Order: sequence, then C-alpha cells, then structure tokens
Amino acid sequence: MKITKKIFNTNPKVKIPIITFKGESSGPKGLITGGMHGDELNGMLTVKRFVELFEKEKLEKKMRGEITVIPLLNPTGFKRSSRRAQPDNSDLNRAFPGKRNGSFSQRFARQLMDEFVANADFVIDCHDAGSHSSLVPHTRVSNCKDKACIATVQNLGRVFGTELIIKREGKRGMLAIEAYKKFKKPVLTVEIGGAKHANKFLDEGVEGIKNILKYFKMISGKPKMPKKQFLLEKRFGIKAKRTGIIMLSAKLGSRVHKGDEVGTIYYPQIYKEEILHAPMCGVIFSLHDHQIIEENQFIYSVLETKQCHGKRKQAKEFTELKRISVEALYM
Ligand SMILES: [Zn+2]
Repeated sequence: MKITKKIFNTNPKVKIPIITFKGESSGPKGLITGGMHGDELNGMLTVKRFVELFEKEKLEKKMRGEITVIPLLNPTGFKRSSRRAQPDNSDLNRAFPGKRNGSFSQRFARQLMDEFVANADFVIDCHDAGSHSSLVPHTRVSNCKDKACIATVQNLGRVFGTELIIKREGKRGMLAIEAYKKFKKPVLTVEIGGAKHANKFLDEGVEGIKNILKYFKMISGKPKMPKKQFLLEKRFGIKAKRTGIIMLSAKLGSRVHKGDEVGTIYYPQIYKEEILHAPMCGVIFSLHDHQIIEENQFIYSVLETKQCHGKRKQAKEFTELKRISVEALYM
C-alpha cells in the first residue's frame, strides 16, 4: 500500500490523500471513492474499512491489477460537515464531466475525470443518505438500454451483492452518468446508511467491494451473493406537512403493505397527532433519523413493489430478478 498526496488545481487548491494497491501481475484498474458529499460518513467509513481489511488480509500480494482509493473527494464540504463543496457551494456530484476553467467543483470534477476515471476500468463511488436520513444498503444503476451498459453498469450493480438494486435515470452532472457518457466507464454508486452516524451495514459495503474485485478476478474467490435480489424503480417519499416530532415504528428494509402503520407525527404547535400509514406496498427504503423533522423534509420513503395481493403474502410481491449464477454475469 502506498499513500501519496494529490494536489488538485482548483481555486483554492485542495490536497487529498490517495491510496494505491498494486498487484503482482497486471490486470484491471479499479477506482474506489468516498466522501463526494461531505456529510456522508458511511461512504468514507466503508472505504476505510475496505482498506484496513485489504491490508489485514494481505490481499495486495495476491492481487491482479491495481486499486486506487480516494478516501475523501470533498474535503471542503467535510470540513463543514456539509454535502456541498464550500468554495462554490455546489453539489460536486452535479459538476461532471467538469471544466478546466470552470468553478471550483467543475475544475475538480474535470481533473478527477481526466486523471483518475479515464484510467480506471471501473469505479465504485460510496455514498449515504446525507445528514438527515438513513438508507437501506443498495446500489444504483442507470436505466440504460444499450447492451454494453447493461453488461457493465447493471451487472456490477448486481455483483456488489445487496438485496436491493435501484434503477434510475440519473441526473446530468453525476459522475456515474457522465463517466459512462464520456469514457464508457462503469461507475457503481453505492448507498449505505446515513444521518451522520456510522451504520451497522458497513460490512455489507466492504463485502460488496470485495465481490466486485472477485468478479474482475483481481482477487480470488467467488462473489458472495444474497439468496434473492430485487430491482426496483419507483420510490415514494412522504414529507412532513409542518415541523413535527416523529415516532417511527417501521424499520429500515422492512416490508409494508398499503395502509400499514409506520409511526406517528406530533405537531405540538397545533396539538395534533397523525398516524402515518404506508401509501403503497413496498420496502421501507429510507427513514428520517432524528425525531424532530422540519416542514417539507422526508419522513420516510417506500420503494414500491409491483404486486401486493392482500396482507402478508411476501414472497411474490417483488420484482424479483431472475436467479442466475454469477458466472452468467461475467462479461
Ligand atoms: Zn452522496
């Protein structure tokens, strides 16, 4: 393992530690990043735990190819525990592919693309839900239609090995979207936990990174896959109508049916309490992680499942992915 420092030509300049692992033999090159958003500590901790495990298990010696790890992409945001990069108050993950003479974030994005993403065969970008809520561990893949994209981006989403995979359009300026557009490089966005505390799901993230390395045959072994995986698309967020105090009984990842009670919200300013009911059948996907919630913040969200035939029929309600062996996913 080698730790170096990289100075980015932003204004002001930022200096960021870079960790590299170089295998004995040549092979694929992977880039693993955390802290794109300065308040998403679970992404940073997943990356750290992965590096520690890699060292502890002495995997570098047995590895094929190279891994570059950037433990914190957004040090100015982190300094203020903020999602946004501070010099230009921008969301770094909307600044890609970036510009050489653009804003702070655009310059950073451009340099990251040219000097790191362009040289990688794949990228794993670790996030969490941000300051206020927690997310069930999942990967996000783009809703692409061309075979090459499905064979790379969507397969990586599965091989990472979370039970849930979200297919989404993505937005302009996101690393995952722009890196594929510009270089045809697959960027896997990983989301684990949130709300500014270390989440119990971290090991799942580390296992996921190892799964990807196994998939590329950079380390030995077969990816550990869950018994079932679900590809879901429709997410519904329920917002607080006014500032209130919530008591949630639903747990992250639990399955709910339309009308199930998920908790209560109390508005002391009008002395009123409301019971919260699930608006549709699905999985509790995100939960606001503080008991006080401000007007218009999301209390929770549900990932909708396609079928829901009455109560407690669990197995068939999900858009379950066809079970295929990991070998079938190999490119
Ligand atoms: Zn993020």
